[in-house]
Amino acid sequence: AVRQPDHELDEPFYTSCQEPAIDQPREKAAMVMLVRNQELMKALKTVQSIEKHFNQWFHYPIVFLNDEPFSKEFISAMNATVSGEARFELVPKKEWLFPEWMDVADAQASIKAQGEAGILYAGLETYHHMCRFYSGKFYTLEALKDYAWYWRIEPDVEFYCSITYDPFVEMAKHDKVYGFTIALPEEPRTCPSLFRKIADYKELNNIPTTELWKATVAASWVPWPLRPFMGWFRHRDRSGDGWSLCHYWSNFEIANLDFFRGKDYQRLFEYLDKTGGFYYERWGDAAVHSLALHMLLPSHKVHHFEDFGYRHDWYYQCPANAPNGQLFESKLLPDGPYSPELEGGIGCRCECDGRRTRNFPAYCTNKLKEPNTVKRLSMVESVRSW
Ligand code: GDP
Ligand code: MN
Repeated sequence: AVRQPDHELDEPFYTSCQEPAIDQPREKAAMVMLVRNQELMKALKTVQSIEKHFNQWFHYPIVFLNDEPFSKEFISAMNATVSGEARFELVPKKEWLFPEWMDVADAQASIKAQGEAGILYAGLETYHHMCRFYSGKFYTLEALKDYAWYWRIEPDVEFYCSITYDPFVEMAKHDKVYGFTIALPEEPRTCPSLFRKIADYKELNNIPTTELWKATVAASWVPWPLRPFMGWFRHRDRSGDGWSLCHYWSNFEIANLDFFRGKDYQRLFEYLDKTGGFYYERWGDAAVHSLALHMLLPSHKVHHFEDFGYRHDWYYQCPANAPNGQLFESKLLPDGPYSPELEGGIGCRCECDGRRTRNFPAYCTNKLKEPNTVKRLSMVESVRSW
């Protein structure tokens, strides 16, 4: 069935190649990478990839963040690789370590137990600090106060296509707050009480239900007299409606800092922080960001960068090249081996195979894009596109 959208739908800003508008004014924006000294080689690969596919034309600054001082080696290697300014910033301990009111020994015992239970990364204290940092403290860092936008990058990510336009400028122009590439389900054991806590907050503060919230939260099929009891189960709200676990993968984000620095988001973060769930469970920043966005934003403020070729670990998105995506003549674009041309492609000079996965797993991508899509996929179509 075709839906009638009540707002402008989310489309790629551009399909195919553009001549990079190198004389156009820039936004107040930076790329940001939290990284450890020992990850230098993988971090370099990321920076080389983003420079080659984007920043060689736009020269945005890259801010490197670390909870320990950067080594001389790290600094000189990065300075030799970036085409814009490189900044090396120390994250203050206050923003990184346990909150002051927390019983540290007790939290550490819980972290140990989570590790022994085999919950993904949950036995690592530093991983908990990292997730809490990226969930809230990151946004209010002194080091980022002059920027309105950030593009998050990580060690060991790869960009496959030429990004020939300025995504910050387009985000601003189209009134977007958050951009993603890949959506996938969260590992349920990392966050048994997260959804319930956020849903309680929503109810307590009378926050109206958005389209995005409806897209990720399915109404319970249980008959209504039994529904209050369903609230005892994990990943359900008080009335029994359940979270799909779908969220945007946060190792890639292009987003508006003012939204996350703003009082609505920061109040929610403080509330979540006070529950202790960043340590007594292993809440990921990706799930926290997504649920917050879904609760607080109209759907047209979220953008899917489906024209970006992107990989982290073994998940990737590869758009097929646009019909003239390889043939485009330009003074600025590089030559290289390009993916086979496919019908309906939207990418520019993508160096990945667009015949393979477009986005894994497509179930969540489709689900979270529903409010921004005219045609809702049937169950069969949605399973087939996995
Ligand atoms: P994954 O993507 O969930 O497997 O997690 P990662 O290990 O890639 O961590 C996410 C990001 O946080 C990466 O950019 C890491 O470099 C960074 N990171 C994780 N733990 C630490 C830490 O203890 N110190 C610093 N400085 N960075 C960290
Ligand atoms: Mn990673």
